[in-house]
Amino acid sequence: MKTRPGTEIYLDNNATTKIAPEVVEAMMPYLTDYYGNPSSMHIFGGQVGDALKHARKQVADLLCASPEEIMFTSCGTESDSTAILSALQSAQGKRHIITTRVEHPAVKTLCENLETLTGHKHRITRLKVNSEGLLDMDEYRQALTEDTAIVSIMWANNETGVIFPIEEMAQMAKRRGILFHTDAVQAVGKFPIHLQKSSVDFLSMSGHKIHAPKGVGVLYVRRGTPYVPFLAGGHQERGRRGGTENVASIIGLGKACELAAAKIDEQNTRVRALRDKLENGLLQAIPRSILNGNRSERLPNTSNVSFEFVEGESILLHMNRYNICASSGSACTSGSLEPSHVLRAMGVPFTAAHGSIRFSLSTYTTEAEVDVVLEKMPALIGSLREMSPFWPGDDHENHSSQGHGSVLEMAVVSLCVDCDDSEKDAFYRCKANFLQIDELGKQLIVTGSVRGFRELGQRVEIQPRPWERAGLCRSEKQLTSMAGADSASQQSMKVLLRWQLAAAWDFHINQQPQENIKVPADCGW
Ligand code: PLP
Repeated sequence: MKTRPGTEIYLDNNATTKIAPEVVEAMMPYLTDYYGNPSSMHIFGGQVGDALKHARKQVADLLCASPEEIMFTSCGTESDSTAILSALQSAQGKRHIITTRVEHPAVKTLCENLETLTGHKHRITRLKVNSEGLLDMDEYRQALTEDTAIVSIMWANNETGVIFPIEEMAQMAKRRGILFHTDAVQAVGKFPIHLQKSSVDFLSMSGHKIHAPKGVGVLYVRRGTPYVPFLAGGHQERGRRGGTENVASIIGLGKACELAAAKIDEQNTRVRALRDKLENGLLQAIPRSILNGNRSERLPNTSNVSFEFVEGESILLHMNRYNICASSGSACTSGSLEPSHVLRAMGVPFTAAHGSIRFSLSTYTTEAEVDVVLEKMPALIGSLREMSPFWPGDDHENHSSQGHGSVLEMAVVSLCVDCDDSEKDAFYRCKANFLQIDELGKQLIVTGSVRGFRELGQRVEIQPRPWERAGLCRSEKQLTSMAGADSASQQSMKVLLRWQLAAAWDFHINQQPQENIKVPADCGW
């Protein structure tokens, strides 16, 4: 299924942004006529070098830094890795890193690798956040030690928009002689940043979050900061990063920085007002919807709202009907349907974390678009809740979230299908929203929403983890298949599986997959 460009209601600007037309215009000559290598000695290449110099100045101006402190990279992720690895190499034996539990995978995964792949040579402190996503400054103070090589803390969170007190934290690190890096990928362009006045040593940013192309980023390195290159090679970027520059994208990034500087006020007035209208409208119109993240210490464009008892992926699929684009808190990649680590770190319960949607606006967002979302969302959430046996009804004051029987845990159910190549575009996974023991303790019920169409099925496997947690799984190998279920029904997006429990915590598990669930062709998907 494709959509016509320009008809989308795009509220996913923390994922990526539209390239500004002015940026495209600035880039075009460097994709066509001016193809010289900026390092060449001839005038033709030299002209391109001059354009790079101008772009570097535009970036520096947005960050209130000097152009020599700006280094172009391929993306925010590269900038993050470069800063952290450089600090570790220059830190003369120090092996401690301070970061948070809510970092983007660009920092989170690197830290995990440093901890495990290098045989635990590095010690990582991951600072906690409270239920509003805010850090505890006392915990931070106590974490700073003689052995700390670098602090790496994001300026603004990509999922909730929560802003951390980076200036203050950088000063505290500086007083202890510790290098400070901030991943400012979501922060740049949303509020003024004055690096000359701050104690930040390294700052990462990314082009595609500020209306420049994907595949270009920046690492700010404060003058005098010890630095070891990540990409060794030629003399580009004053010997700090080898590799011929991505010229056109860098020119585009320069232009995007100039535009962002001019639009910071609009972000904090018009965009903020639209975000508030959207958020307040949703919270008022939809019962049991919860705002995730501190209300005031937050990016002006971001709103993360949980709709209890529904599942984020299903919401997004239904939003597709109206061409509304947003993101879900549960990262449904490579079969992992765990809810977001950010929401889990904030202690958001499973039932709400699974139903979280991030709306992220930009200066291109219009009031008419927000009005469409406000018009469609209440009915959309309502219809999904109708399908959930756990939805206690709109008269929510009278119901506990446990509703009918006891909700044990969110479960992950994989519906696997053997298909031929012609069916590759079908979706094959199904995610179970709830795992529940019925009121009499006699039945185990798994309810899932099918993400898919045509013929789905062949077998259903329930990954053992939730079962273990619930005390239902005796060993790693125990997987439950459809064949063990007493009944399986499928109705539009909903799959309901029932297992009879022989005794409350002891039932037979059949590992032989057999039965099919057929999703009728006319199910609306
Ligand atoms: N850091 C944060 C906070 C982000 O939101 C992102 C992208 O979503 C990145 C880093 C990675 O940036 P890039 O996609 O340019 O590698």
